[in-house]
Amino acid sequence: MPKKYHIETKKIPPRLPKIGKFGIVDWREDCARCHNCVKKACVYDRYRQETQYIKDLDEFNAMFFECMGCFSCVQKCTKGILALTVNPEYEGMGNGYYTPDIILTTWNQAETAGIPVSGAGYRGKFTGVGFDSMWTDMSEIVRPTRDGIHGREYISTSVDIGRKPKLLSFENNRLTTPLPPLVDLPVPILIDMFPKEYQFPNLMPMLLAVAAKTGTMMIVDREQQGLLGTYNEKHLLNVVFHVGKDASLPTPEILRKSRLIEIADDDGVEQRIEEIKTVNPGLVVAVRVELDSRGEGRSIELAHNPAVEVIHIVSDINGNQTGVETPGFIKDMTRHIHTSLVKEGIRDEVTIIAGGGIALAEHMAKEIICGADAVTINVPLLIALECRFCGSCRDGFDCPAKIETITAQYGVGRMTNLIAVWHDQLIEVMGAMGMREARRLRGETGRALFFEDIEEETFGRLFGKRISS
Ligand code: SF4
Ligand code: SF4
Repeated sequence: MPKKYHIETKKIPPRLPKIGKFGIVDWREDCARCHNCVKKACVYDRYRQETQYIKDLDEFNAMFFECMGCFSCVQKCTKGILALTVNPEYEGMGNGYYTPDIILTTWNQAETAGIPVSGAGYRGKFTGVGFDSMWTDMSEIVRPTRDGIHGREYISTSVDIGRKPKLLSFENNRLTTPLPPLVDLPVPILIDMFPKEYQFPNLMPMLLAVAAKTGTMMIVDREQQGLLGTYNEKHLLNVVFHVGKDASLPTPEILRKSRLIEIADDDGVEQRIEEIKTVNPGLVVAVRVELDSRGEGRSIELAHNPAVEVIHIVSDINGNQTGVETPGFIKDMTRHIHTSLVKEGIRDEVTIIAGGGIALAEHMAKEIICGADAVTINVPLLIALECRFCGSCRDGFDCPAKIETITAQYGVGRMTNLIAVWHDQLIEVMGAMGMREARRLRGETGRALFFEDIEEETFGRLFGKRISS
C-alpha cells in the first residue's frame, strides 16, 4: 500500500478580533445575582472569555461575538435578562455567494484545521441555488469500515491529470500502446490564479510554499513569474505556468523541468501544444476555457482533439457563466460537458479540471460528482487569511484584514490548514458514500440527488416544467 497522504497542520490563531455571528445582550441592572448564575454553565465558557477579552481590548469598537447560539443561558436565566443578538458586522460580510457563514466556517477551519461541527443537526434550508440544490447520498455512513479518516480503511484522494488511452494493446504479453504522460496529485485541488481585483503580490511565494507542503500545484501567470521570489528547480514540480494568448512560452529549460503547463484557449491551441511537446513531450498541457456563452460547446469540441490532454473550465468566482444574461452554474455546466462526453464515448480520455464557485469542501465533492476530475480554488485561500470578502481591495481601498502585512508563517500555516481540512472532509464524504477513490467519484451522479430532478419526477407530471427565472 502506498504511504498514506497526510498534511501536517498546526493551530494558527487569528490576528484580528473575530467577527462572530452571535453575541449576548445582558440587561445587568435587573440581575438578581443568583448563586447558580447560568453564565457559569456556558459549555463554551464564553462569559469568562468575554471578561478577559474586554480586559485585553485595544480596539474600542471590537465587540465580543463568539457565542455559539445554543440558547442555554438565554432560556435558563431566572430573570430573563439575557438575549441573543446577531452581529450586524457579521451579516454585512461577503458578496451574496460567499456568505457570512461560509466565511466564518473558512476562518475556523484555517485556524484549527478541524472539520466544522455544527452540532444539533443541520439548521439551514433543505434546498437552494447552486450547489445547495444537490445532496450527496451518505447512506453508507452507518458502515464503520468505511471510516477512512480514522485509518481503518484507506480512501485515496489521488487523481491523474493528463490524457488516457482509449484502449490498451498487448503483443506477446507486452504493452504496445504508448502511454501519455500523467501528473499524479494526492488531492484533487489545485491553486488557481486570483482574479486581478484580488491579487496580493506578497501572497505568491506563500501560495507556492502551500502547494509544496500539500503536494499540489499552483497556477501562475507566466508574466507574474517574478513574484514567486527565489524558488528553486524542485519547486517547478508544484508550479503550473499559465501562458496567455499573446504571451511567450517559458524558456525551454523551464519547460523541460515542468510537469504541467496551461495555455489560454484560442484557434492556435493545437500549434501551441505542438511547440511545447517539441521541447518536452513529457509535459502535460492543459487548455483553459472560460465558461462564457461558448464555453461548454468549446470544451466538448476540444475533448475530441487528440492533442488536448486537459481542459480547465473556469466560471466567475461565484460559479456563474460569464457574459450572458441568464448565467448557468458551474455544476450544471460541468455535468453537461461530462455527460456529453460520456455519450460520445470519449470522457475517459481527457481530464477536466473545474474552477470558480468552489467555496466549501462539499462543493469540491459535488463538483467531482458532476464530472470534474479535480477543482481549482483561489478565493477560499484568501478568506483563510481573515479576508471578509468586502471588496475594498477590488475598489482600490485599504484592506481591513491587512493582507499585505501577513507573515509567511501565518499565511502558509492557515492556507495549508484549509487544504488539509478540505482533504479530511472529502475523505469523510467519500467514506459516507461508500467510495474508496476520488477517481471513481468523478461523474458518480448515482451517489447524489438533484433537487431539479426530484421536483421534475414528483410534480412535473402534475404541474409541468418549472420556468426558470
Ligand atoms: S447562548 Fe450558549 S454559547 Fe452563547 S453564551 Fe449562552 S450558554 Fe454560552
Ligand atoms: S478583506 Fe481585504 S482582501 Fe478581503 S476583500 Fe476585503 S479588502 Fe479584499
